[in-house]
Amino acid sequence: MKKILVLFSIVCSGFAFSCKENATVFTLAQEKDLGLQVKTEIESTPAEYPILPRVGNEKAYQYVENIMYSILESKDVNHKKDFDWELTIINKNVLNAFASPGGKLFFYTGFLKYAESEAELAGVMAHEIAHSDRRHSTNTMTKSLGISVLIQIALGKDPGTLGSLVGALAQNGMDLRFSRKHEYEADEYSVRYLNSIRGTKTYDPTAIMDFFDHMKRDSLSTPNGNFEFLRTHPYDDNRKENVNKVWQKLGSPAGQKYTAEYTAFKQLLP
Ligand SMILES: [Zn+2]
Repeated sequence: MKKILVLFSIVCSGFAFSCKENATVFTLAQEKDLGLQVKTEIESTPAEYPILPRVGNEKAYQYVENIMYSILESKDVNHKKDFDWELTIINKNVLNAFASPGGKLFFYTGFLKYAESEAELAGVMAHEIAHSDRRHSTNTMTKSLGISVLIQIALGKDPGTLGSLVGALAQNGMDLRFSRKHEYEADEYSVRYLNSIRGTKTYDPTAIMDFFDHMKRDSLSTPNGNFEFLRTHPYDDNRKENVNKVWQKLGSPAGQKYTAEYTAFKQLLP
């Protein structure tokens, strides 16, 4: 675990590496395998990651999956068909969400209950989809662990490092984070995705900032609160400026928040 921590901190604080997809030599197929390994590891560690079962919670899953599928319809998503996109709910009071390589998304019930509108959830989900679709996670892992270790993990041949990697992904009390460049790009694509999906719902493309503002406000009034997402996604004015700039550049309409629908959804959660 320490090895990963050190390597991650070196990568995230020391190098301004490129976010471009070709910066990683990990193939899309390997990336899918890695996503599957992460999911299997989470499923086999129920004490740490108690998964909300699909049976008996079909409506809750359908609600969040509809949002995910709708975001994946965006023309700006590159790997809609390459990855097996899937959203898993972890039934734990943790204010966090994360994405693994290969299109696997994980949302804690603590996060889902904290968000205040469907648009907020869509904004954060779009941000997490961008981390996976833009291959930020793989890029960071390749540079920190090395391609050969990552391939062994994807092949299921290094369970020890896989466990540490999942812990790092889920940010279990560790100060690991994407580079700011990745964060700004994920914010940018959150706006782009929400702007370009015009299905039955039209989300406010800047809704991710509602979530950040909401969390920032609460973290000031409750300084000892467990705002994991804020710790891994530091709030700064540049973040807001970046989101607004992308939004204005795209000339997006304002969109909706869908607060009443979201309040009803939260009643479905345990
Ligand atoms: Zn992020």
